[in-house]
Amino acid sequence: MIHNIIDEKLIFETKKLFAKAQNIVIVAHVGPDGDALGSSLGLWHYFNQKQKKTTVIYPSQYPNFIGWISGADHSLIYTSEKEKADKIIEQCDLIIAVDFNTPSRLDRLSEAIVASKAQKIMIDHHLYPDKDFANIIISHPEIASTSELIFRLLYRMEGLSMINKACAEALYTGMMTDTGGFTYNSNSQDTYIIISELLKKGIDKDAIYRKVFNTFSENRIRLQGYCIYEKMKIYPKYKTSLITLSQKEKEQFNYQNGDAEGFVNIPLSIKEVVFSVFMREDNDKIKISLRSQGTFPCNLFAEQVFNGGGHRNASGGESYSTLEEAVQKFEKELPLFDKFL
Ligand code: 5GP
Ligand code: MN
Repeated sequence: MIHNIIDEKLIFETKKLFAKAQNIVIVAHVGPDGDALGSSLGLWHYFNQKQKKTTVIYPSQYPNFIGWISGADHSLIYTSEKEKADKIIEQCDLIIAVDFNTPSRLDRLSEAIVASKAQKIMIDHHLYPDKDFANIIISHPEIASTSELIFRLLYRMEGLSMINKACAEALYTGMMTDTGGFTYNSNSQDTYIIISELLKKGIDKDAIYRKVFNTFSENRIRLQGYCIYEKMKIYPKYKTSLITLSQKEKEQFNYQNGDAEGFVNIPLSIKEVVFSVFMREDNDKIKISLRSQGTFPCNLFAEQVFNGGGHRNASGGESYSTLEEAVQKFEKELPLFDKFL
């Protein structure tokens, strides 16, 4: 039996909102990941079956390793299709925000979404949802992925009948990527009951794993080797690791969007490392990914040092300084967190 997590009243209100809507927009966070695509496209397949006009809009391009998810090629990317997206947002009567907790995570798309008069619902698993953003907020930080939360919502609304194979594939992908292939945040028994239901819909979980995790380019693998061999710095006193990647180095390896995805997790396989940070220099900012093991709160570090947030063991942030300055800041703040070690 799958435990009822979402409040009955919220299920009821969401059901009403979904039934009334005719023109739906689904949005997820900038730099969409497996769970952002999984949860948004899972919902998209659900509404397709309901024959409701539904458009998924991402603030920026998704990486190739999840681009195969059915429906991704029907989505709009705001950075390249702003006008078309703005028009659709203007006409929609319901906005569903998935896998993020505050409009700033929509980057440039936030303005049009915040300004819209449409009904809004947020479905997410990040801490501290922005309560002003939406009419209905379904927020469950204890659930490992938004995709799992979408399954729970659809299941509670009308059982399994409207979850088809394409929907199941999308949701499974999000559940798998947000738990690192079920290696963290993955001890909930319910998760495996849900997977069992998704398997009944005909998904091939082994194939999904291969498509997501085993499709790297030669350049990406060489970049990974370079980052570990040449760039990984260990701070033994703080059980911490730092990898940085500059624009110049990215060019050297013909860097493609998403090529550094997952690098931040690698140092955590060193026995002594409990906190791992990866900094990537982009055109306009430094993107910082943080991961930890056990009780070390990398979300606190992300919040206090890099204007970000996230979960205790997986967070992110950004910096508008130079890469060198971001490293200096990191090294200055790190000793203040040794009480969590
Ligand atoms: P990643 O390192 O994979 O980009 O992000 C890991 C997690 O950190 C995301 O699932 C999200 O919860 C959080 N996160 C990433 N970047 C940011 C950010 O800039 N701001 C906030 N508040 N959270 C972020
Ligand atoms: Mn997520």
